[in-house]
Amino acid sequence: MTSLSVSHLSVKFGDRDVISDLSFDLAEGEIASLLGPSGCGKTTLLRAIAGLIQPSGGTIRFGSQLVGVSSVVLPPSKRGTGYVPQQGALFPHLSVAKNIAFGLDREIYTKSETSQITDEMIALIGMQGFEDRAPYELSGGQQMRVALARALAIKPKLILLDEPFAALDAALRDELRNEVIGLLRKLGSTAILVTHDREEALVSSDRVILMRDGKVAQSGTPEEVYESPQSAEIAASTGDVLTLPAHKSSAGVITYPLSGQEPSLGMSHSGYVVIRPEEIKVVKESGKGRQGVLTHIDYYGHDAMLTIDLKDELNDDLAGSSTIIRARVAGPAEFNLGQTVYLEHVGPIRYFSLP
Ligand code: ADP
Ligand code: MG
Repeated sequence: MTSLSVSHLSVKFGDRDVISDLSFDLAEGEIASLLGPSGCGKTTLLRAIAGLIQPSGGTIRFGSQLVGVSSVVLPPSKRGTGYVPQQGALFPHLSVAKNIAFGLDREIYTKSETSQITDEMIALIGMQGFEDRAPYELSGGQQMRVALARALAIKPKLILLDEPFAALDAALRDELRNEVIGLLRKLGSTAILVTHDREEALVSSDRVILMRDGKVAQSGTPEEVYESPQSAEIAASTGDVLTLPAHKSSAGVITYPLSGQEPSLGMSHSGYVVIRPEEIKVVKESGKGRQGVLTHIDYYGHDAMLTIDLKDELNDDLAGSSTIIRARVAGPAEFNLGQTVYLEHVGPIRYFSLP
């Protein structure tokens, strides 16, 4: 296993920059999730790291070894990366055992070594008895396991997984994800897991790399990117957000619809405050919070999202303001539609000034 360092990487298709000036580092044994919208360049980045695409600029290092630059490229077979492509991509005409053995170079491994490694991999993914099955005789989760075993068979320095769980239904996805992450941890693998699922990104990794338009928008621990996003847009990419107009005085006092202090009539807003719905406390009894009316309940089982209309005419004077608040509560049972409720913001104040 090794560390990975990507520095000022760019990749062009034709004259279009799909990745530009992208940098991040991964420590040995670290598992990173790469999160970004469809088309932002996630697969391209993985393929460049695996050596399947030549960068137009920048460097890729495994430990201290330079593996990729625009002029010198270590070929994919010499990089020792285990790559699981987006659709798993098992060879349909090969059995499970032959799929797993496929990447084991005949010039390096003897026949008996290959068969021993294949057996080890089959045991590792818990699929003894399935050696001779064809891919079409397997469930989606089993196919994913085999694709992973094939990538792990070469004892890779780095494992690259491209949306491995995207095609699986929710229950299986959670179970298989825990299993795969557990396996990577046990092996001490350095790994990148591509996902467009924000919860998957937060739950499965040591580090979240948020990607947007071929660049790293922010990188940090799951807690850092969720709690301290560098912009409202980044905040929205890791979870639900409420963006409220806000005013910051020259003395640094921030006023917004849920601050204890009311914004005064005619006050212009200089920025906005980004709040997570779970950072709003909703109570039925009149207290120090702001008054509102409960207009909608989305019930999710484990929690519920309340839509609340803030009762405040002053708000209409704040350009572009919204008086709709979305608050997440543990259960909706104690609330009724049309009810008057009181809101208090109990989280950090994330203020961003207008551009
Ligand atoms: P993601 O995996 O984040 O959805 P991709 O890396 O697949 O994004 O693609 C990023 C952008 O690069 C997209 O606009 C895509 O159309 C383009 N692209 C990907 N591969 C090629 C290619 N081989 N030739 C030209 N354009 C490509
Ligand atoms: Mg992709």
